[in-house]
Amino acid sequence: MNSIVTFPNRIPAAEFEERRFTVYTDRQFDKIDVIQQLPAETLFEMKVVASVLPFRVNEYVINELINWDRVPNDPIYQLVFPQKGMLKDEHFDRMAALHREGADRKAIQALAKDIRDELNPHPAGQMDMNMPTLGGEVLDGIQHKYRETVLFFPAQGQTCHSYCTFCFRWAQFVGDKDLKMSSTEADKLHGYLQEHKEVTDLLVTGGDPMVMKTRSLAQYLEPLLAPEFDHIQTIRIGTKALTFWPYRFVTDKDADELIELFARLVDAGKHLAIMAHYNHWQEISTDIAEEAIRRIRATGAEIRAQGPLIKHVNDNADDWAKLWNKEVQLGIIPYYMFVERDTGAKAYFEVPLAQAFHIYREAMKKVSGLARTARGPSMSAGPGKVEIQGITEIHGEKVFVLRFLQGRNPDWVQRPFFAKYSETATWLPDLKPAFGEEKFFFEDEYDAMRKGNG
Ligand SMILES: *Cc1c(COP(=O)(O)O)cnc(C)c1O
Ligand code: SF4
Repeated sequence: MNSIVTFPNRIPAAEFEERRFTVYTDRQFDKIDVIQQLPAETLFEMKVVASVLPFRVNEYVINELINWDRVPNDPIYQLVFPQKGMLKDEHFDRMAALHREGADRKAIQALAKDIRDELNPHPAGQMDMNMPTLGGEVLDGIQHKYRETVLFFPAQGQTCHSYCTFCFRWAQFVGDKDLKMSSTEADKLHGYLQEHKEVTDLLVTGGDPMVMKTRSLAQYLEPLLAPEFDHIQTIRIGTKALTFWPYRFVTDKDADELIELFARLVDAGKHLAIMAHYNHWQEISTDIAEEAIRRIRATGAEIRAQGPLIKHVNDNADDWAKLWNKEVQLGIIPYYMFVERDTGAKAYFEVPLAQAFHIYREAMKKVSGLARTARGPSMSAGPGKVEIQGITEIHGEKVFVLRFLQGRNPDWVQRPFFAKYSETATWLPDLKPAFGEEKFFFEDEYDAMRKGNG
């Protein structure tokens, strides 16, 4: 039987039942049936940790992405449910004591704030160095770190369908208003982009912009089809909704409108890239996840995949190879493997750079060329995105070979540089220049930039 694709429903969804979005936060552990089977001590630990770090999980993730027979070692369980080791013993013990005493919410909040302040809530100078202005006014929902790409944080997109325990934006989810970066007005975004013709890429991010209603998203994106925004060639939308709530693209009330919006952007000549955050192949193991991918791709939008390497979740080459292969099979382009940032529960999740490179390389060896488009392991640090390209020996010295994939100064990009090898280093500042040099080539310039920005 031939099917004829007609407008307006040119990308009909396969038959899936509409689902209600049901979500649980730290005050509703008691309502999550399946975890009531876990040991009482585990439940208590979760509550303690969730009073410091964000917790939010929806029923789809609980029922369909987690293999409960494998808990606590299931990767998706580790990705969303708090674990004792995510807090330092000292922090955990103090918070546990408050809970045991039955302390009130105010006392718990106060201690939580003290602990959070010690967890580097704003890594890589995000708050003070990337604040663009328009007419002398600081635009707090916009970041412009790399010449050709502007990041935009729409106010209505500053939450997610579930929270990742390792999220580097965790601070904005736990009610600390000072730390929030979000924007209220589309006008400011459009004004800024109009004044910056060097910008080719707009990256809409969050939280997760896909928590927004299609109507709100359209307010930001449709105006970009006007001729004065011809320099904006690419619109990227960063999202984990393909994992946490694929119904967004299939059965939600405004799913068809969303798909239609994507198609309109593509038809008007924009490159639309959905930047899907994936950590593990289990996230794309359901029919609804595949259907969401199929519908997005049918609009002509690309889906590119990126995600951090996380201990307890995906710290092995087999899972990465399987993830990249599955992505390629479904028409998704593997883009970045990130190194987990130096924030939050980093001690629990971190993988040393040497091991990260080993996992990356072993995974690459297992896949075909089409899956080798994933670059990394890459650190999104203050000066830029720094990739570990290799580990080698030069004149008897073991070194990391590094390069900038993105730099605060575009001239830094693709220049190889070298750091002394280390088994334990996990982040850029842990690295020392190789060959007895005092500084990395970019350091003086970067320091000057930092001072310039106060
Ligand atoms: C990663 C990133 C971008 C986009 O960089 P690409 O290499 O073009 O993907 C833009 N801004 C910031 C702050 C980033 O971290
Ligand atoms: S989906 Fe992204 S922004 Fe949301 S919690 Fe996970 S990592 Fe953070």
